[in-house]
Amino acid sequence: MFSRPATAAGGGRRAAELVRGGGTVFNLGGGQHHGRPDQASGFCYFNEPALTIGVLLEKGCRRVFYLDLDAHHGDGVQDAFHDEARVFTLSVHEAGRWPMDRRNVDPLATGGVGDRAGGMARNLPVPSGLNDDELEALSEGIILPLIEQFDPDAIFVQCGVDALADDPQSRLQLSNTALWRTVAQIKNLAPRLIASGGGGYNPFSVARGWAGIWAVLADFEVPDRLPEDAERLLRDIKWQHRLASNPPERWFTTLADPAHHGPIRDEIRSLIKTVSSL
Ligand SMILES: [Zn+2]
Repeated sequence: MFSRPATAAGGGRRAAELVRGGGTVFNLGGGQHHGRPDQASGFCYFNEPALTIGVLLEKGCRRVFYLDLDAHHGDGVQDAFHDEARVFTLSVHEAGRWPMDRRNVDPLATGGVGDRAGGMARNLPVPSGLNDDELEALSEGIILPLIEQFDPDAIFVQCGVDALADDPQSRLQLSNTALWRTVAQIKNLAPRLIASGGGGYNPFSVARGWAGIWAVLADFEVPDRLPEDAERLLRDIKWQHRLASNPPERWFTTLADPAHHGPIRDEIRSLIKTVSSL
């Protein structure tokens, strides 16, 4: 209960120190975006992104942009900076999914379009089935413009991989390459970048998804077929889940998923429009 989240938070603190003069750090163990100051929540004990952003501010950052790509709303980070004009939070997550706002008698999911916390928060609750082209539309239409407008001196991107189609915890249908593309697009928008892990409940897509993010951040090419050592590592993973009863070969032999193309639905277009006008 203690050492795992403490290691994640320590990694974040170290990351904030390492990017002091600029640079990029990937803190795989971090991203526990639901943790509260007085309460654990949703597998999160210490809120690593909130603590790390706190260190960035202490070290002199004036504007930190927090982008949350996990399938769940980054409620703990948003609320941690409720009254902090130096931190802008933007969360993309599946609409209607946990966490729920317990202040309501009839609880609603947090992170609705109108949920702006103290004013520096924006939320993109997306419909189930979100595909790669829709994430690209969100990225071009609202994510990148908001970052450019805020002109941050540091970006924190929470790279939960539970929005991927292979993950059992959400109904979003992204391929890992869509996530990698978004990370690549924001990579050079600020002099400091800290990327973290986050949710991910299929160990094969976690390993493949985060290895690919590492490749994007470090400018490595992703091979079409994995080398033998990597394949062996993946084949050794034991996972008791119905999804693992007949696993596709690509879980063992590749990093990149095939793209999940699809139409850009009206909900996505109107989401971009509404959030742009806030
Ligand atoms: Zn999640």
